[in-house]
Amino acid sequence: MLFRAGCLCSARIRVPEPVLLGHGRLYGSRYFLWERESRLARPVPVDIRVSVTVQQIQSRSGDQRRHFSSWASVREKVVSPKQASFLGSSSPFILVKVSCGLSIAKPQSRAPREIHTGNMPTCKPFERLPKSVVPRHYELLLQPNLKTFVFQGKETVQVEVKEPTDKIVLNALDLSIGPVEYICGDEVLKPVIVDLSAENETLTLHFTKALPLGDGKLTIIFTGELNDKMKGFYRSKYTSPSGEERYAGVTQFEATDAHRCFPCWDEPALKATFDITLRVPPKKVALSNMPVVSERQLTLEESRELVVSAGGEGEGGGGEPLRELQFSRTPVMPTYLVAVVVGEFDSIETVSRDGVLVRVYTPVGKAEQGRFALDVASKVLPYYKDYFQIAYPLPKIDLIAIADFSAGAMENWGLVTYRETCLLVDPENTSAVRKQWIALVVGHELAHQWFGNLVTMEWWTHLWLNEGYASFVEFLCVEHLFPEYDIWTQFVTETYIRALELDCLKNSHPIEVPVGHPSEIDEIFDDISYNKGASVIRMLHRYIGDEDFRKGMNMYLTRHQYGNTFTEDLWSALEEASNKPVGAVMSTWTKQMGFPTVKVVQQIQEGPNQRRLKVTQHKFCADGSTQDDSPIWMVPLTFSTSKHPTKLAHQMVLETKSSDVVLDNVFPDDWVKVNPGTVGFYRTQYPSEMLAQFVPAIRDRSLPPLDRLGLLDDLFALVQAGQTPTVEVLKLMEAFGAEEDNFTVWSSISNCLGKLGVLLSHTDFLPQFHAYGCRLLGNVAARLGWDQKPDESHLDTLLRSLVLGRLGWYGEQGTIAEANRRFKSHASGEKLIPADLRTPVYKAVLSTGDQTTYDTMLKLYREADLHEEKDRISRALGAIKDEGLLKRVLEFAMSEEVRSQDTVFVIISVAMTKVGRELAWRFLRDNWHVLTERYQGGFLIARLVKSTTENFASEERALELEAFFREHPSPGTERTVQQSVETIRLNAAWLERDREGIRSYLSSNA
Ligand SMILES: [Zn+2]
Repeated sequence: MLFRAGCLCSARIRVPEPVLLGHGRLYGSRYFLWERESRLARPVPVDIRVSVTVQQIQSRSGDQRRHFSSWASVREKVVSPKQASFLGSSSPFILVKVSCGLSIAKPQSRAPREIHTGNMPTCKPFERLPKSVVPRHYELLLQPNLKTFVFQGKETVQVEVKEPTDKIVLNALDLSIGPVEYICGDEVLKPVIVDLSAENETLTLHFTKALPLGDGKLTIIFTGELNDKMKGFYRSKYTSPSGEERYAGVTQFEATDAHRCFPCWDEPALKATFDITLRVPPKKVALSNMPVVSERQLTLEESRELVVSAGGEGEGGGGEPLRELQFSRTPVMPTYLVAVVVGEFDSIETVSRDGVLVRVYTPVGKAEQGRFALDVASKVLPYYKDYFQIAYPLPKIDLIAIADFSAGAMENWGLVTYRETCLLVDPENTSAVRKQWIALVVGHELAHQWFGNLVTMEWWTHLWLNEGYASFVEFLCVEHLFPEYDIWTQFVTETYIRALELDCLKNSHPIEVPVGHPSEIDEIFDDISYNKGASVIRMLHRYIGDEDFRKGMNMYLTRHQYGNTFTEDLWSALEEASNKPVGAVMSTWTKQMGFPTVKVVQQIQEGPNQRRLKVTQHKFCADGSTQDDSPIWMVPLTFSTSKHPTKLAHQMVLETKSSDVVLDNVFPDDWVKVNPGTVGFYRTQYPSEMLAQFVPAIRDRSLPPLDRLGLLDDLFALVQAGQTPTVEVLKLMEAFGAEEDNFTVWSSISNCLGKLGVLLSHTDFLPQFHAYGCRLLGNVAARLGWDQKPDESHLDTLLRSLVLGRLGWYGEQGTIAEANRRFKSHASGEKLIPADLRTPVYKAVLSTGDQTTYDTMLKLYREADLHEEKDRISRALGAIKDEGLLKRVLEFAMSEEVRSQDTVFVIISVAMTKVGRELAWRFLRDNWHVLTERYQGGFLIARLVKSTTENFASEERALELEAFFREHPSPGTERTVQQSVETIRLNAAWLERDREGIRSYLSSNA
């Protein structure tokens, strides 16, 4: 029998020589040993497989012991004297990391069974920090050394003791703790035990007596490593204009990595104010959330002081006296929004219409590349001020481009950090689609300054409030600034459809997902929180109307400013503003996983101008199954008719399994469409006579673009679920093909073509499908041509790149030849290809390329200065067909030349073809330890797993995946693996079902 409850472990690991004692951590299915002697507690990697017996396990209550045996894979690595001295040890030592499966037997069991399973006993239930002592204000001093990658820190935290207790519990990880004292009144108390638990990520200070209730001051001196994991306080590598390799110190704290930088109460509800001080080498730029209030030059002695008091040796700033900068006090805010950056940057600045200093920091010599973002940001602030009716609360906002950055951007209050590719625009080399993306990202992060920063979710379960909302409002803002982008139509392909595709899986999750341990948080930074969150808010926005939505938002933000909220707080404000049952409607969308299909089961013409529809709802499942006990949603239903295709003819809320709807002023030949504008988060299914009525309106495009797109995408989803044959969607796309001119409709067609292409890559008639694709795209390609026309629309520019990309992928001869011709003069420097066309051209050229082509691409990569261009090239490399070269692409992905943040995308590019997919999957397995060590969980590794595996289409592969991840469990990617396995099985069933139908359609319509 397995006890699934878990376990505070104290383990004794025996290896032949030497014997290593450690204290361990059991979490999920992995076990780490923490090297006791090292100055920095860190998990220890090991290479040799040995079997170990963990002899005892202590239950949470502390006294009851259970005996059990285990299997384990242990990797062992000897640390060099140099590394050891860096870690603070005088002699080399052995680092050990153990992955183990435990079967915990009943105490009386004499021969416990060994069970090797991926479903290991999980860690003890996560507990939030006790509320007996809470922080009010932090004085935080940090002194990073950008050469040795060690930082020292000192903090004095004003706390309030609210309940009698003799201990203070806060969070800390990977820090070494120096002197600690607690002062209340005249009394100075020193803790008798300073207990740093890597397992719980806590620092517990035990005192000899209960602390007096009321205010006190806790002072801690600590040391940490400027790590290379892109979390906590980390180092980011850049090249100076003179070509020298250098490092900046950067923070990334969301979700729970602030306590890797300083001991703190690292929970979003435990807000406090911060006085931050930095000691930095002369001439470095040093930034934090707030503006600098004072600055002074330190003496050499003062520069060393913190190092000495932390018990370290050596000099403070590498022998030079440091500069000390004090930043003004922040508003009350959560720890995850604290930020500092130290390094070399250039900047440009302006003052927004509403009086806020806006600065953009770029790599040295590239200040002008910040111009576009500066312009956007300085317009976004007054826009939000006007929209929320609340001014931006800080005196300044900085946007800074960071060379090594795992996410896209982070909304630290007053100091927003970005990947270079999400901030910098080089007019010569930045594509239109990239500029549009930058505008959205800037709009997103600045929306967080209100939504997230001013008002913060109470716990990570409500993360979606931050992300879903910001992902919605970024579109409102970009629509306002750049109406020519027609950005809302792109919302549907980029955000809404992606959410539907993920949310129909059995392994999806509700928007509001109970989150315990921090390692579970990374996994919910996913398409559900962001994209479904944004989509249901868009649906709500239409349901209550913009005016009431604004009114409610203002009410919510004003009521809860500087505080924390639950999802229900937002609903109640919007409910008050609109007098509609917002809470009741929305909770069916945020608390339930999935979404419904609204099915029109019958339409009856009643008299000359009245139409009666009978509609039903049931949960939409990717495998087409239906359940009798399907949950019910409160569905805001809308209708349009051919009289006024862009107007709502009727709206209602469907609250039951089925209902009748009567529409007036509808004549027998008129079409009736459900969900005009594709706003409601559901699929629609029509009887065939209703569908047939749309076809002329698709052909003459009197049906608006978002409705054409919605019809196609809904039909495609039904095809994937096995409710309609694939051939139907092939026919419908041909109905679009000849005349369609809208970029967004084409991106939806392209999305369907992409999925079909992946599926058919497992057959022998892929070439016939490519020929079908070329026929479909022929007209639009001819209309657009290769060269941008004067005054052409932004969307036509995007469409050209999309269409040429597809044609190149399908090996269309004319496209390949023209791409090669243009590439030749591009590579020689004779005539550069416009940035918008480079991706399709690079891929087309590589797809027929050889060793020389590959070498030319690498040369261009090495010469490229703009990160965006490096991305473009490295993510095109997977288009190459030669197996030997693809292997080199994979090696290149892991090389020093590619930053960790980009590696996964290069590997993913290889997995896009059938041959490449096999190679990438093999590569992922062979390099699993290196990859997990490099990323330590997190969403990049989840992305990698998903993209390299989900396009397989056989049961054999599904089993292989399950087996591999059973052997190599990885907390934080479990759900991703389950989703991939489910998708593979769905693909296999789809292929089985429709293979012959598609084959015969393609061959008879060639
Ligand atoms: Zn966000």
